[in-house]
Formats: sequence, C-alpha cells, structure tokens
Amino acid sequence: MIIYLDMDGVIADFFKRFAELNDVAHWKTIKEKDKALRALGSTDYFNQLDTFYDDDVDVSAEIVNYVKKASIDNNIDWGICSSPLRGDHNNSSYWKRVWLQDRDFVPSIENMVFTSHKSKYAINGLTGRPNILVDDKISNIIEWKNKGGIGIRFQADQDDYKEYLFPALEDAIRNNK
Ligand SMILES: [Mg+2]
Repeated sequence: MIIYLDMDGVIADFFKRFAELNDVAHWKTIKEKDKALRALGSTDYFNQLDTFYDDDVDVSAEIVNYVKKASIDNNIDWGICSSPLRGDHNNSSYWKRVWLQDRDFVPSIENMVFTSHKSKYAINGLTGRPNILVDDKISNIIEWKNKGGIGIRFQADQDDYKEYLFPALEDAIRNNK
C-alpha cells in the first residue's frame, strides 16, 4: 500500500498565492481564471506557495510527518501524487519537486508522481491492493475510488487534520493492510 498526498490544497496553499497574484481577496472572484492559470506557465509559481498554517503550527509539515511515521510504523510506502499545470507539465513538475525538497517533503523517487491521470495509481502494482489518495478535488477522489482505490477528501484550509484526516488515515490503513 502507498499513501499518496496531493499537493495543491492539501499541503501547498495554491489558492492563497493565486488570489494574491491576481489582486483579489479570494481566487473565486478572479475574472478570467483560465487566462490567470495559463499565466502561471513557464514561471516558478509552484515554488512560491506557502505551506498551510494554523496559528504557529505548520499544518503541512504535521501532515507529511504523520504520513511518514505511519508508513514506517505500518511497513507501507508513502508518496506524492500531484497534477502538473496544463500545458506546463515539465516546468511545473520541476518547481513542485524543488518545493518538496526545500521542505524535506520528498518521498522515494518512484513514489513522487506528477500526472494528470491520478487514478492510474489507485491500485498497487506490486500487490493488487488499493492505494490511498488524500486530495481536495472531489473528481479526483471519485475517479480514484472508481478504479478501486481508497480516497480521502481533505482540504487543509477547511478540514481539521487532527480530528478528521488522521483518524481517516488510521482507519484506511487498519482496514486494508
Ligand atoms: Mg489539489
């Protein structure tokens, strides 16, 4: 089993920086979102993102450290499963990798996945058993589950990592070992 963490919305605060760059209080009020997204291409945007904070606590580091420890304690793997920016695959993946390295969030290289087709990783290639995906995007979770994986929908600025994410991960690991 591999526990995959999505980046944007789960450990990287994509939307806060996206709003800042477009001079709006909330990204949903950006007028031409597609154009604004395209403008991120060929830049180091993904290295400009903050981790999520709750007062002084780095929530993203708490999450990654929890998953690292859970993988050791349960003798399973963990990884990153993140979608690159459309039309900017190599460049955005590069800066995502730099961001992970700077924060000591890097999993083993084979489990660091940048793909637009996350659900290809829903089933473990070695064991035929489900992998876990933590992701904020509901369509990613639905596709992952449709392929037989275990999906946990989690959005760091909205859901409680201690009350909700950690117990959900504990259950998923215990029930599928
Ligand atoms: Mg996301």
